[in-house]
Amino acid sequence: MLALITAAGHQITADPAQADAAVVNTCAFIEAAQQEAIDAILELAELKKTGPLKRLVVTGCLPQRYQGDILKEIPEIDAVLGVGSFPDIVAALESGEAHLARFLDKNAPLPELDRLVSTGPGWAYIKIADGCDNRCAYCVIPSIRGRYRSRPKSAILAEAEKLAADGAKELILVAQDVTAYGRDLRDGTTLAGLLRDLAAVDGIQWIRLHYLYPHEITDELIDVIAAEPKVVKYLDVPIQHVNDAILRRMRRPETRASIEALFDKLQRRIPEVVLRTSLIVGLPGEGEAEFAELLDFLRRQRLPRAGVFAFSPQEGTAAAEMPDRCDADEAEARRRTVTELQNAIMDEFDRGRIGGTFPVLCEGRDQDGRWVGRSYADSPDVDEQVLFTGDAEPGRIVPVRMDGLEDGCLTGHTL
Ligand code: SF4
Repeated sequence: MLALITAAGHQITADPAQADAAVVNTCAFIEAAQQEAIDAILELAELKKTGPLKRLVVTGCLPQRYQGDILKEIPEIDAVLGVGSFPDIVAALESGEAHLARFLDKNAPLPELDRLVSTGPGWAYIKIADGCDNRCAYCVIPSIRGRYRSRPKSAILAEAEKLAADGAKELILVAQDVTAYGRDLRDGTTLAGLLRDLAAVDGIQWIRLHYLYPHEITDELIDVIAAEPKVVKYLDVPIQHVNDAILRRMRRPETRASIEALFDKLQRRIPEVVLRTSLIVGLPGEGEAEFAELLDFLRRQRLPRAGVFAFSPQEGTAAAEMPDRCDADEAEARRRTVTELQNAIMDEFDRGRIGGTFPVLCEGRDQDGRWVGRSYADSPDVDEQVLFTGDAEPGRIVPVRMDGLEDGCLTGHTL
């Protein structure tokens, strides 16, 4: 959308008070995300009354989920675009039409358009597919984003070349499920093959993967990740839970035994691997015993990275109708318990890295003038950063010797 808007001759500003039009690109997979989007929309609706802002456009998952209802609920919105209609962004901004609404086919092939990269320096996301063919009982994403569609490998490689030419050192491959990449193309394309080809792109030093559906991690994929130095040894494998009955309720095909076997295999075949996972606590049916089993698993596994959500019942999903609901306060308390345990485990992992030297992608400076960056063990936004001093510049990967831990961030100096 940024590229289309710029190509149409408009200027982008991150300051809504300066803008004559605003776009809120939304998320809607749980209550908290929807509330965040609605708060942002209401703030801008206020600005429309007082400032130069004249047009308010809402795009993405929230309008896709609630379609025209959102225009009735918040009449200050001038236009809504569903997930298949973002190429209409310029028309939505320039049109004087009141309450413009476009919802093209969410299952259509992904459009190949120019990009204006708003992340970095030195790194960029690449979307390799969109949608999901799984049907986890708690999840609205497949109904919002449509069926799984892979982008052609040639388009991803061309984009990677361009990003590398513009200075990207790290590519972060994203999809609801990267392991399914290529299956829908039915021409033998796989994630393993894509990784081999991306690794041949000059200038790219790190390739990171979000997210790997545990059931689909093949031996071929593990071999490529283990053997290819550019694929960072950081794997984000959401497991959601480990109790077999809860996993069945979630309609996920794994069991505690299969998850443990997979993690053992990954740690054996990729010795320096940093595993990240995400978890849901408080699903209907999760009593004290099931929750205790999850804690026991985390204490044994000592996963260096993990995020946890309290179950958020979503209209239209099977889990929202399930009996044996866990009290919302109890679910939140369980979320805090897991977070505390994981913070201690993550600190223990990071303390073990003090004294070591690791490549760090420099991203800029903090308020105190120190460099801020990320090692292979840290993904943007979800993990901590490395604070360091010495010779560096934004967008460069430099060797940093770790010498301490400060509020969960490793500190160090360049060599
Ligand atoms: S695999 Fe992920 S996106 Fe797909 S249904 Fe399950 S939780 Fe949702």
